[in-house]
Amino acid sequence: MHILTLFLDGIGLGENDPEKNPFAVADMPTLHELTNGKRWLAGTGRQESDRAIFIPTDPRLDVAGRPQSGTGQATMLTGLNVPKMIGRHYGPKPEAQTREIIAEHSYFKKLVKHDKKAHLLTAYPHGLLHDIERGKTLRSSIQQAAHESGNPLFTVEDVVAKRALTAEWTTDMWQKYLKISDVPEYSPREAGQILARVSRDYDFAFHSHWFTDRVGHRGPFTKGVELLETFDAVMAGILDEWNDDEGLIIVISDHGNMEDLSVRHHTGNDIPTLIIGNQKSVFAENYSALTDFVPACDKILFGL
Ligand SMILES: [Zn+2]
Repeated sequence: MHILTLFLDGIGLGENDPEKNPFAVADMPTLHELTNGKRWLAGTGRQESDRAIFIPTDPRLDVAGRPQSGTGQATMLTGLNVPKMIGRHYGPKPEAQTREIIAEHSYFKKLVKHDKKAHLLTAYPHGLLHDIERGKTLRSSIQQAAHESGNPLFTVEDVVAKRALTAEWTTDMWQKYLKISDVPEYSPREAGQILARVSRDYDFAFHSHWFTDRVGHRGPFTKGVELLETFDAVMAGILDEWNDDEGLIIVISDHGNMEDLSVRHHTGNDIPTLIIGNQKSVFAENYSALTDFVPACDKILFGL
């Protein structure tokens, strides 16, 4: 059994308002089929279909304030209530105490220690990795958790070798904005097919997409819709390749943001968790908050 997780930063369950919520208008046939034809909104509630379970999930964790990426991602990848431990939601990057918690409890690190193969499948440009090395920028909590496993983060060469995908799946933005032209360009569906195939090399494979959070902060609305429709096509590609008895696909986020473009900051909304595969009920049992991700993965990977 293996797990492929698709993380989208800053997506929550918001109002059914076509003026401010891209989820209210985006054409997402693949994802909606998995949730009984229902859009991913505040009123959707828990859904169970043949292939999937959808669970509105609590990212607030009994801590006041709006959830943030630093502590949210750290919670997701340690199983600990990190905002409660440090006394607040904090982000976007992890502060010192959060980094210490990740260093000790990173799920990537734990899995590798137990002879499981775990890797972050997102590749980062050389420039970013260089800036991290010389202390010019901090790793995100997800990058930090992956780093603690001892495996290097993937980069351009890994995209070329089809070991990794870029954050936006298709390399489109690398080509357009970073002018990195020596990488293959995929359709979203092809990108999904590659992701599913690559994930079979690991017990725990995790892809991290952050652009949804950026659109949540800056818009525009049309880009939010476009990202969701691209992601839906990526999921179609993954499902082309995927057998429901080989493991689980999990779609997850850290906090709400893009579901309400009438404000530029994060929301306190629930976030979606989607679980696809034959073992979905095992994973979903008692799942209600971001702290539940690691214990649920443990049940699948260690048969706990
Ligand atoms: Zn943000």
